[in-house]
Amino acid sequence: MDFFIDGNWTPATSSQLIRVTNPATGETLETVPSGNAGDADRAIVSAAKAFALWRKVPMARRASLQHAAAQRLRERADEFAQLLTLELGRPLAGSKNEIERSADLLDYFAEEGLRLRGEIPMINEESERVLVVKEPLGVVVAITPFNYPITLLIFKLGAALMTGCTVVAKPASNTPLTTLLLAELFHQAGYPPGAFNAITGSGSELGRALVEHPVPRKIGFTGSSGAGKRIAAMAAVTNKRLTLEMGGQSPAIVCRDAKLDTAVTALVRHSFANSGQFCYRVNRIYVDREIYPQFIERFARAAAALKVGNGMDPDCDLGPMVSEKIFSTSVEHVENALAQGARLATGGERLLGDDYDSGFFFPPTVLADTRQSMKIMREETFGPVVGVMPYDSLAQAIELANDSVFGLAGYVFSSDLAVALSTAESLEAGSVWVNNIHRSYNMVPFGGYKESGLGREKSRHGLEAYLELKTIYLSTAS
Ligand code: NAP
Repeated sequence: MDFFIDGNWTPATSSQLIRVTNPATGETLETVPSGNAGDADRAIVSAAKAFALWRKVPMARRASLQHAAAQRLRERADEFAQLLTLELGRPLAGSKNEIERSADLLDYFAEEGLRLRGEIPMINEESERVLVVKEPLGVVVAITPFNYPITLLIFKLGAALMTGCTVVAKPASNTPLTTLLLAELFHQAGYPPGAFNAITGSGSELGRALVEHPVPRKIGFTGSSGAGKRIAAMAAVTNKRLTLEMGGQSPAIVCRDAKLDTAVTALVRHSFANSGQFCYRVNRIYVDREIYPQFIERFARAAAALKVGNGMDPDCDLGPMVSEKIFSTSVEHVENALAQGARLATGGERLLGDDYDSGFFFPPTVLADTRQSMKIMREETFGPVVGVMPYDSLAQAIELANDSVFGLAGYVFSSDLAVALSTAESLEAGSVWVNNIHRSYNMVPFGGYKESGLGREKSRHGLEAYLELKTIYLSTAS
């Protein structure tokens, strides 16, 4: 595949290629160009040219185009989901869900965009009015990770296009194919050339060139905290606006009076979905000592029952890890915990034999009796491994939960809603779920405290993040 720039499939100037493989089989799916600074410039020039016109397009027209793109995405959900499973490895049902939810998010932003308002304060001066208006920022660079390539792009793209910005997207090198296809889909839906460009290449070369380029006014980034902090430092040179969605190491607290059936079901789902490759997954669990043995037994049994396999198999719950690099963190965290005295309740070793040999398959893994000093309790695993430890008082559990540089999400299970609410309020996290865990909703903000992020995506706040405020002082006296 080539780049999608200015409404056309466009070859790169760089002759370097990235091989995109199926993580379940190791087979090559496609090659895409590994772009350089010249390629970044071409895409940005196209987006800048388009911005001059797109910013003047009425909101109602932008909304109807966005609904049209959402509709086309739904119509092609099977095709996009198949490609997503091939490049990422996730089970097909999960991929289809990502595509459908992404279409819903486009619709949401289209509707929320129509509700944007400026202000006219009551200054009450005879011949003067003051207008506070909102204007699109300009060209936006959207840099996305491998784990939810379409949804995490639409967090940025849907808000940017609706507010009148234009976009250059750079997907992760492991999973670029669906993003390139999405750029073509938007063009087919009627977007003008240059409104949404997609180019591929490494973070260190192409990503850096996009961030350092003087023209873009905003970087919307989702990825690791390390890359996010490097991007923030580079963007500071030209004072670009930033939304950063970064890494997580999310804690769950299970109180003595928690409903264990509900807690175990929710925690298993939210620890191992997408093979643990999502930012607000549960990485560590603190359990009241009184119910700790039964919790471990039930949690490990439910985890062990999940089936690992090729994402194209409709019965499988977990696919392969996307790459050896991502897989190796799970291995490292298990080894580190076991060396320091943790107990393996289930899983723990790479799956091998038959079809498992052609990918990096890791089973749902539960490490019991962990300590706060272990990597599984401190660092982001981004794999299907969870650390569990007992606590003696809720105050201690809250202190341990907050003892982290991350602050993306937290989870509390207690039948006493007053206790649950005050615990939720005490957690240093952008989102907290109480007594159940589900996906985050489109109409509420999502983002992180501390090193998990800067700014919020989704909701009205996620839309406003692509606007600049301008104050116009209008003297009417002639
Ligand atoms: P990553 O290695 O940080 O890469 C993310 C994106 O940034 C990729 O497109 C990457 O390009 C690019 N990149 C890397 N270094 C860059 C640089 N110096 N300048 C510009 N671009 C750069 O993350 P990942 O492994 O794909 O994804 C996993 C991480 O994403 C985890 O930490 C996870 O928690 C985080 N995440 C956060 C959220 C959230 O909402 N908070 C959601 C999902 C994932 P290449 O692929 O070419 O390296």
